[in-house]
Amino acid sequence: MLKTLLLALAVTLGFLQTDRQSICNKINTLNTKVLNGTIDRKAALAQFGVLIKQLNAVPVAGKHAQWVFPLKGYRANAIGGVNGNGYISKGYNYLDGNKHKAHPAHDIFITDRDQNDLDDRTNKLIDVLSVDDGVVIACSNVWDAGSNLRGGKYIWVYHPRYNYVTYYAHNRQLFVKPGDEVKQGQKIAEVGRTGFSAYKKRSPTHLHFSAFSLADNIPVPFNPYNKLVNAAHL
Ligand SMILES: [Zn+2]
Repeated sequence: MLKTLLLALAVTLGFLQTDRQSICNKINTLNTKVLNGTIDRKAALAQFGVLIKQLNAVPVAGKHAQWVFPLKGYRANAIGGVNGNGYISKGYNYLDGNKHKAHPAHDIFITDRDQNDLDDRTNKLIDVLSVDDGVVIACSNVWDAGSNLRGGKYIWVYHPRYNYVTYYAHNRQLFVKPGDEVKQGQKIAEVGRTGFSAYKKRSPTHLHFSAFSLADNIPVPFNPYNKLVNAAHL
């Protein structure tokens, strides 16, 4: 009896896993089209809504009121600007893709004077951590110096319980793919200098971090400054 139950559970979990994987792969494809401007805005909006609804039907464990800071070994004082004033969301629209305006994000700077991605204090690469439990819905593990993509190697993580996504850009290397479930504090990438502007010498090495509500079925930015300031540290 128990064996049959366990088997049924394993099969169900297997199905959910496959579902999540295929839905996330579709979101990833859609996100790439939005970035490249190869999809009509109305169509993109409609598809995004349907896919998020489908993803919400697949349960994901866990929720935390408090975040984990997305850069291991760093704190809110590494956030650029004064009291988080680097965050500017006015004029931003997700559907503008790579041509989007504004900077609905916080840049979190590491100490890397020689721009080799290594932390000058430890001579090691720095881990990028997921701020909460979630599912990877889009990412790009490919970027070359000739690309005009601003995010470089980026990751979108969806946090279903609170209906928002977090975005991590300019990574050196990713350790996740669409459909992967991630835990709060899990290493998802290492900080890097990928991205059209981030690659240039005038740009100090940093993580570009954003948070977006999915209230209207597309990502709408909100300012995560207070959540970063009050985050736990690993
Ligand atoms: Zn930025």
